[in-house]
Amino acid sequence: MDKKNIDWSNLGFGYIPTEKRYVSNYKDGAWDEGTLTSDANVVINECAGVLQYAQTIFEGMKAYTTEDGHIVTFRPDLNAKRMVDSARRLEMPAFPEDRFVEAVKQVVEANAAYVPPYGSGATLYIRPYMFGSNPVIGVKPADEYQFRVFSTPVGPYFKGGAKPITIRVCDFDRAAPHGTGHIKAGLNYAMSLHAIMSAHEEGYDENMYLDAATRTKVEETGGANFIFVTKDNKVVTPKSDTILPSITRRSLLYVAEKYLGLEVEEREVYLDEVKDFAECGLCGTAAVISPVGKVVDHGRDICFQSGMDEMGPITKKLYDTLTGIQMGQIEAPEGWICQIC
Ligand SMILES: *Cc1c(COP(=O)(O)O)cnc(C)c1O
Repeated sequence: MDKKNIDWSNLGFGYIPTEKRYVSNYKDGAWDEGTLTSDANVVINECAGVLQYAQTIFEGMKAYTTEDGHIVTFRPDLNAKRMVDSARRLEMPAFPEDRFVEAVKQVVEANAAYVPPYGSGATLYIRPYMFGSNPVIGVKPADEYQFRVFSTPVGPYFKGGAKPITIRVCDFDRAAPHGTGHIKAGLNYAMSLHAIMSAHEEGYDENMYLDAATRTKVEETGGANFIFVTKDNKVVTPKSDTILPSITRRSLLYVAEKYLGLEVEEREVYLDEVKDFAECGLCGTAAVISPVGKVVDHGRDICFQSGMDEMGPITKKLYDTLTGIQMGQIEAPEGWICQIC
């Protein structure tokens, strides 16, 4: 298979259509058999549930080429399961988990020419999503849905090294107690746009959201979970019902404990204790880990001892081990790597 003529290492994070995407429709209480299509456009009624009441959920994952030349994805079963959880919370029909993984495989295989080569740092980003597609004007769940999976090649997250970022403690809340913070729904992103634009205007890369109930505990950023490292090398991650359960974060905790022999703790993390940590990182599919060098809390700088030049040593070990597992250089735990071709 010939790869597309793309300058992989200079790709950004933007939408580039690929040849095929997967579509399945839900009607009369059942999903149809689903198919690959070349049509990148969605045509829906002006009154579709998604357009009026934001009934939409999504997932994000990537396919990439390993050192030995296989195209793989990382733990797609967990994305499938999380999407079922998201669907339940928004009263949408679950797309079966085995069919989700199968759809992802079909899309990646059909667009193999767009999967960046090993060593480029680029990946094929995969976006499964689902939305209410029939007209809904009274507030209620749609009766018909569309599940789709498209893919788009994206460039290396860190060009020229992972530089630590500066984030601010945000005065807006991301997720209400007993709300929808734990599901991957478009609505959580719509309401974060104002907060991120205002963070950028003030010169910050990201927002650190606090728990909405007490505003004393660290939750996450708009699209990534936190991990912290204590001065005695313990890996700590915030525990809360209102953060999105990141697959990267769960994988990093496993790596910390089982591969690096570090102590790990999932517990409530107070803003007051952030100053005592040695390292801080943001984890998610896109970056794996982005190091945080500084948190600004209303004019008060909280600087981590890892500094503003490079990743902290434990963060780096976590990053290298997980990316090594993903790329096939380090043996993966059973079931983590899903080979497509
Ligand atoms: C997707 C997402 C993450 C990261 O999850 P991964 O499964 O690691 O990609 C973290 N926080 C939010 C709010 C998200 O939407």
